[in-house]
Amino acid sequence: MTKNTIQSIKGFKDILPDEVGYYDFIENVIAHVTEQYSVSQIRVPIIEKTELFNRSIGNDTDIVNKEMYDFIDKNGDSICLRPEGTVSIIRCALEHNLIYDRGVKKQKFWYYGPMFRHEKPQRGRFRQFNQFGIEYFGFKNTESDIEIIFLLNLIFERLSIDNGITLHINSLGTKEDRLNYKNIIKQHIDKNIGKLDDNQKKTLKNNPLRLLDSKSENMIDILEGIPPLYDILSTESKSRYDLLLKKLDSMKIQYIHNNTIVRGLDYYNDTVFEWRHELLGSQNAICAGGRYDNLVEELNQTPVPAIGFAMGIERIVEILKHVNQSLSEIYNIIPIINITSENNTYCALQCRELREIMPQKRFFNTDSTSSLSSQLKHAMKMNSHFIILITDENIKDSSFTVKTHANKMNDIIVTKDKLLEMLSKLHDDDCSVQDELDDDFETPGEPDE
Ligand code: ATP
Ligand code: MG
Repeated sequence: MTKNTIQSIKGFKDILPDEVGYYDFIENVIAHVTEQYSVSQIRVPIIEKTELFNRSIGNDTDIVNKEMYDFIDKNGDSICLRPEGTVSIIRCALEHNLIYDRGVKKQKFWYYGPMFRHEKPQRGRFRQFNQFGIEYFGFKNTESDIEIIFLLNLIFERLSIDNGITLHINSLGTKEDRLNYKNIIKQHIDKNIGKLDDNQKKTLKNNPLRLLDSKSENMIDILEGIPPLYDILSTESKSRYDLLLKKLDSMKIQYIHNNTIVRGLDYYNDTVFEWRHELLGSQNAICAGGRYDNLVEELNQTPVPAIGFAMGIERIVEILKHVNQSLSEIYNIIPIINITSENNTYCALQCRELREIMPQKRFFNTDSTSSLSSQLKHAMKMNSHFIILITDENIKDSSFTVKTHANKMNDIIVTKDKLLEMLSKLHDDDCSVQDELDDDFETPGEPDE
């Protein structure tokens, strides 16, 4: 790259081929699990009227206050790159009468796509990032909270990142409960007001609940001893939350009741949750959400109870990179090395046939103009468990050469039927195969290097 090469904008990142596979994998899991739960996909535009977010998210929230990518377009209209999905989904659902039409309609939607927030770029925090989210409309009881938790647990399991994840849960009660609690926070902090910095003073004035999830030492000290929000919940909210926790206990769903989960946005009530992963640094929330039973009414005077969450895909990619040795193991990429002499079509035809017979498998042809050792190096990087080679010798007797981890990557000559059998036995999760070395296998000597 020369000095004058134009680079991408700070906080906006390219997703290179090595990474795209992780995104594909996550998107496939999402598509499958949402299908199992019969949740319908909605795709909304990336740009909305700025007013939509100002009206719903809350003027005193980080998003509206400082993170909005809003600008005036050529018509003089104030428009905005969407900072989150929930509000756009509600806008769309109302516009098309999907959730209210002379009464509440019960619907379950999911979305996936880029969101934009003008915040300080750092590990786990970008200005363009992807979110997957679900919104349930018309469902009020604790069953819907539980269904969402189950669905997410299934996604984490399928992604094999369920180890290290903790569900933090809290109840924000009603609007009145939160107003009462804001006063309790103000009273509690009153005698220590001099210890607050300017930002904290601003938060105390505009959105005091947010002080509860502050990571700064002085705030943690100041807030010590404050009665938890739970203690002042209204009877209805308290018994709803108690029932939810009782059900989670009886189903042995692990969670941490966490009084500091308050969420940044104004629209939540009752259940709020956040999933955190231990492998991430300080930005360890991978997914967050809660109930927002009054938001639709605020936007449209039609009361539609709702619950939803949004998952940060970039943070999931970071975890996957930690827990999976390589992308190929997610994908079972099977490298094929062609070392037949030039000008013959045998390898190309065999590979085409393999792809036709085994459409679910992924084969990668290495560059046949490179030396055997560099092709092998490339292949081993992709898959150190199973590699196919096609040599001039193989052409003569229509066989294949296979290297497997179980056979210490020594060459084994196999018939096409045997190769297909071995391929069909490849373990989906680790790409290895337990060889049963039959008599018809030939093992000609030491592994190549
Ligand atoms: P945080 O406390 O990390 O700022 P948030 O409360 O702003 O999160 P939400 O708006 O609830 O987050 O978004 C849900 C999820 O989206 C987060 O848990 C996180 O995984 C992801 N996320 C939010 N902001 C970003 C960002 N700037 N870059 C990457 N991922 C993000
Ligand atoms: Mg944020």
